[in-house]
Amino acid sequence: MYSHCANDSHRVQTCLLNLHSKLRGYFNSTLIMRSTIDAIQKVLSTAKAAISGKRYHKGTKKYCVIVTLDVKNAFNSARWNHILSALEKMGVPLEGKFLCAVHVLAGTPPLVLLVDERSRLYEHSREDAWSDATSEERAKTLEKWQTQWSTTTKGRWTHRLIPSIAAWIERRHGEVNYHLTQLLSGHGCFRSYLCRTKNDTSSSCPTCQPAVEDVEHFIFHCPRFTVEREELYRLANGPLETETFVGFMLENERNWEATASFASSVMARLRSEERARRR
Ligand SMILES: [Zn+2]
Repeated sequence: MYSHCANDSHRVQTCLLNLHSKLRGYFNSTLIMRSTIDAIQKVLSTAKAAISGKRYHKGTKKYCVIVTLDVKNAFNSARWNHILSALEKMGVPLEGKFLCAVHVLAGTPPLVLLVDERSRLYEHSREDAWSDATSEERAKTLEKWQTQWSTTTKGRWTHRLIPSIAAWIERRHGEVNYHLTQLLSGHGCFRSYLCRTKNDTSSSCPTCQPAVEDVEHFIFHCPRFTVEREELYRLANGPLETETFVGFMLENERNWEATASFASSVMARLRSEERARRR
């Protein structure tokens, strides 16, 4: 019998990612006036999504946990680098293998970089040109984030798809949903991933063995998904590959939606095949 923890943890991670990108909107000038109630509703709908669906076996999904950190008057009374070192001393995980890709997918810089930016802005706080400083410091944060993303060993599949953070976060269309997250992060029902997380006993593709069923094989090569893939290639006027996949999505909304629908249909099939193997 396999453990299902990995799948449940995906669901929570994806919900957090969705919340992350929704909250990102609050920092855009056009959305800055949205009410607190609206924010609460988003948290509630995220919680609802986190507990939706059924477990395979006994047990309920009535509850999920949302943890927030509220430091009273933190923005004007505490130094962010002090907050960060306090969090680190308490052993609060600020970064992780999966989180590295999640930050890029959600378009939200890692907490460490945001804290650093906050500290720099604190130094500017007595100056007049606050808005200039804000955009200048945000540009520096993006530069540091890009350097970190280009040199880290984490999230390399996502990095192959999205080498430039700016190109990704400055897009004008497209939400990253549950199935797209699996495709773009490489964390999904692919046998190589399931095997690595001890949720399957073999990483071989059931059709192409001994070829390994990893996310790249799944998207670009496996004959099980030729029909869905051809539909995508038809829109792209030719075959896509890892390095051109996200560029195609970013070109226009139609391409993005077609990729999202490709992700939903192939991931749903993969999931049902995985369920059948477990029986
Ligand atoms: Zn295959």
